[in-house]
Amino acid sequence: MAFESLSEKLQSVFGGLKGKGILEEKDIDQALREVKLALLEADVNFKVVKEFVADLKEKCMGEEVTKSLTPEQQVIKIVNQQLVDLMGGAGAKLTYSPSGFTTIMMVGLQGTGKTTSCGKLANWLKQNGKKPYLAACDVYRPAAIDQLEVVAKAVKTPVYIDRENPDPVDIAVKAREEAERKGCNILIIDTAGRLQIDDTLMQELADMRKAVKPHQILLAVDALTGQDAVNAAKGFNERLGIDGIIMTKMDGDARGGAALSAKKVTGKPILFMGTGEKYDALEPFHPDRMASRILGMGDMLSLIEETERSYDEKEAEELARKLKKNQFTLDDFLKQMHQVKKMGGIGKIIGMLPGVQAGQFSEEDVEKGEQEFVRMEAIIHSMTKAEREDPSILNASRRKRIAAGSGQSVSQVNNLIKRYNEMRKMIKQFTKPGAMKKNRLLRG
Ligand code: GDP
Repeated sequence: MAFESLSEKLQSVFGGLKGKGILEEKDIDQALREVKLALLEADVNFKVVKEFVADLKEKCMGEEVTKSLTPEQQVIKIVNQQLVDLMGGAGAKLTYSPSGFTTIMMVGLQGTGKTTSCGKLANWLKQNGKKPYLAACDVYRPAAIDQLEVVAKAVKTPVYIDRENPDPVDIAVKAREEAERKGCNILIIDTAGRLQIDDTLMQELADMRKAVKPHQILLAVDALTGQDAVNAAKGFNERLGIDGIIMTKMDGDARGGAALSAKKVTGKPILFMGTGEKYDALEPFHPDRMASRILGMGDMLSLIEETERSYDEKEAEELARKLKKNQFTLDDFLKQMHQVKKMGGIGKIIGMLPGVQAGQFSEEDVEKGEQEFVRMEAIIHSMTKAEREDPSILNASRRKRIAAGSGQSVSQVNNLIKRYNEMRKMIKQFTKPGAMKKNRLLRG
């Protein structure tokens, strides 16, 4: 599937940032060098890569440390946003003519998947409540007409064929009339392809455009051909003007360079991608979903979003103040547990952590963890205020009382105190002078 190797490489770049407290400029430079190489190896257009990496560096340098995210998470967030923007931001959709009848011209070089895409698009439109009609306007290759006929039959869509008519523009005009007569509301015209962009082809397409005034001209390009696909898109757009791209054969393209460069180089969005030979293998192209697929960490990204959303600045500052003074009490411990709950509970968090394989923690494990939470909460609630603030006063008789009050055993109370002490020890290490220094994402 597309982006496989890029995805792997980027994940290893982020892996290198894992666990770093504050990033040095040299860490970022090193990471950016690796990102650049990974993009070039994915066959992304050289100029696009240069700009991408320069923007990335600027964003990383300018980014304030968010207190809620680790530097690694922040870099992932920035790269994700950049990738989304590169591929077209919010994403573009196929639009329909306000007149109620939409004409689409499908153009493209031979072998890119143009005719197949006509069928896939008809199929997709039908599923979306439209009534498509196909028109066979590649009159130069009789086999092309036969092929569209087969495709149309497969997707159960009517098709206009006139083998006697040598004029593709005239066929298109007549197909449009016929489509309306038949009560269809979208005409998809399969146009002639060539091995290369040439004047004759462009003239014919321009004439057709003038005659049928298509609402959309869609260009099929073959992802497997990498930068050639992007250059073809650029050529078609400059000479004919296109509205959107269908990136075909994404299923066989492990690199992904064409999909990543097309929007930036042509200025035109990818509307759909072909993901297989079957007629239902056409998907609307969503830059955000693609980016998270490339990063291979869709769930990590949701975790980042979730953390930012449920992060309470005041509470966190108060906690940081207490941590510094080593005043982390059992009440704070309780608050941390509530924070985890607010983020959807242990199960959700574990499920979102990269590196955790499906099945590594069973539902039973998670349930046990959640029950443990409830138990710990009950124990802390049974303590007096003084005990929560200074657990060192918890002698044997107090522990016994708390155990009875919370309906837990003394060993469970002991266990909680042990965990709390371990956490304090860990916090002490984090709060050594300098370790919590406020900074930009980069030191310097
Ligand atoms: P045209 O000459 O541009 O009309 O290209 P065709 O529609 O005849 O497609 C050329 C070949 O590419 C055919 O064998 C199709 O089955 C294949 N093809 C088209 N789109 C896709 C796709 O998204 N994935 C895969 N794997 N094959 C595709």
